[in-house]
Amino acid sequence: MDLTLILGPMKSGKSLELISLLSPLRYSNTTHRVYQSARHVRDTGVVSRTGGALTTTKVADLSESLAEEVEVVGVDEVHMFSLADVGVVGQLLSRGTRVVAAGLDLDHCGELFAPVKALLELGPATVTYRRSVCDRCRNFNATHTQVLSAGEPFVEPLGRSQALPDDGTFTYEARCRSCFVSEPALMDSPRRP
Ligand SMILES: [Zn+2]
Repeated sequence: MDLTLILGPMKSGKSLELISLLSPLRYSNTTHRVYQSARHVRDTGVVSRTGGALTTTKVADLSESLAEEVEVVGVDEVHMFSLADVGVVGQLLSRGTRVVAAGLDLDHCGELFAPVKALLELGPATVTYRRSVCDRCRNFNATHTQVLSAGEPFVEPLGRSQALPDDGTFTYEARCRSCFVSEPALMDSPRRP
C-alpha cells in the first residue's frame, strides 16, 4: 500500500499533520496503531504544540508492528528509527498496510538522516515538506534544525546520521538555509589565495 511522508525541521507542524491524518481513524473501523521511538522522551504520545494528541505505542524498534495486522501504521519521529526499521516499513507496505511517517529529514549537519533517505527510496506516494519560522531571521522558510551545545552550533559528524539524544543535552533551533551553520566556526578569518 501507500507510504506517506511528512518531513521538515522542528516546529514545522509535522505532528499536527500526523494527528490530522490519523486521529479520525479512532472513530472509524480502520485498524491502526501509531508508533514512537522509546528514545523519544519528551512526550507520551504525539502531541502537537498547537494542541491535539494521538495515542502512541513506544517501541525500541518497529519489528513488533509485523506481529499484528492493522490497516494503517503511523510512525512519529521516524528519523529516530534505524535502517532495519525502514526494512520493516517496506514489509508492511508489501503486505498492504498503509504507512504514514513523520520526522525530521535533515540532521544536525544538514544531511538526510539515513532512515529518511531509505524511506524516500521506497517511493512514497506523498511527501509533504513542512517549513517553520527561522529562529534567527524570523522568516517563514526554515528548512533545517540547528543543534546547539552550550549555545554554539554542534556540527561534529556522528556515525551514519545518528540521531542525537532528546534528553536536554542539546538545544534546537529551526533555521533557514542562510542562517543554518553546517561547518565548524573558523578560528581565523579564511585566507584566500
Ligand atoms: Zn533565517
